[in-house]
Amino acid sequence: MRNSRKNKKSSLPLLLVKIFILTIFVSSIVKAAIGEVTVVKSEHETTKLQQEITQMQSHNEKLKSQNKNLQDKIKENELSYKETSLKAKIAYLTFDDGPSKNTLEILKILKQYDIKATFFVNGHPALRDLYKQIADGGHALANHTYSHEYKDVYTSPDNFNNDVKKLDAFLTEITGKEPNHILRYPGGSNNTISHNYGGKEIMTGVIKKMTIEGYKYFDWNVDSTDASAYRQDKNKIVHAVLTESSQTKHAIILMHDLAPKTTTVQALPEIIEGLKNQGFIFDILSKDTYAPQFNVVK
Ligand SMILES: [Zn+2]
Repeated sequence: MRNSRKNKKSSLPLLLVKIFILTIFVSSIVKAAIGEVTVVKSEHETTKLQQEITQMQSHNEKLKSQNKNLQDKIKENELSYKETSLKAKIAYLTFDDGPSKNTLEILKILKQYDIKATFFVNGHPALRDLYKQIADGGHALANHTYSHEYKDVYTSPDNFNNDVKKLDAFLTEITGKEPNHILRYPGGSNNTISHNYGGKEIMTGVIKKMTIEGYKYFDWNVDSTDASAYRQDKNKIVHAVLTESSQTKHAIILMHDLAPKTTTVQALPEIIEGLKNQGFIFDILSKDTYAPQFNVVK
């Protein structure tokens, strides 16, 4: 009895030591295991991330090649557009000195044929609605000076510029659109009537000034002859346009939509049909359009 009690007494610290050692042992095993798990886990995450990076890289490469293909296609299309527009026969119907009541009829005919034209207008405050209809129809509203008065506009380059700017402001106020800076000189760039008011160098000075101001001007290479008489014979107008247009691939056709020019309106459907038969398509003048220009007469 005594012995066994003694044994029990002496084995308690030993048990504590054993528990302590066991605890350290177990905890070190657990730590190691957790460490192992963490390492495995982080290794797994690294692999996953690497896979994602590889995937993103290959996706990126794919996008790059798709982008390159698209760029190549755009270039091809640009080339074929340039080739087509060089080969194409393009007619630019232009109407000067309007608008007038004839403009409404002209707009109706153009709408029937789904054709856009260029109107070189002057300033007529009473006809505001017509400018709006021209612009809303997708046609080009171009500048032919506000007043069209040779004795005013051709006295100096500054006077000319002021008159052009006056029309631009007038048009912008009506349409809400910025000016397109497309210009036609009253009488054309080679007119000599201007010499009476501004001297022999006036057109050179005016053209220089307006080029600096950012305007591109268009003369014409097809004259409808509708200004050669107060009211030109309709058949003469059709014949003149179709004969002259057949000599060129880019026909800039001069017509007028002043009030007396009713035969121009009557000639228009035949002109459009005839040009179509010659293989022409129709466009409006823009700053990119090739511009045949007269030589200035001094
Ligand atoms: Zn004119």
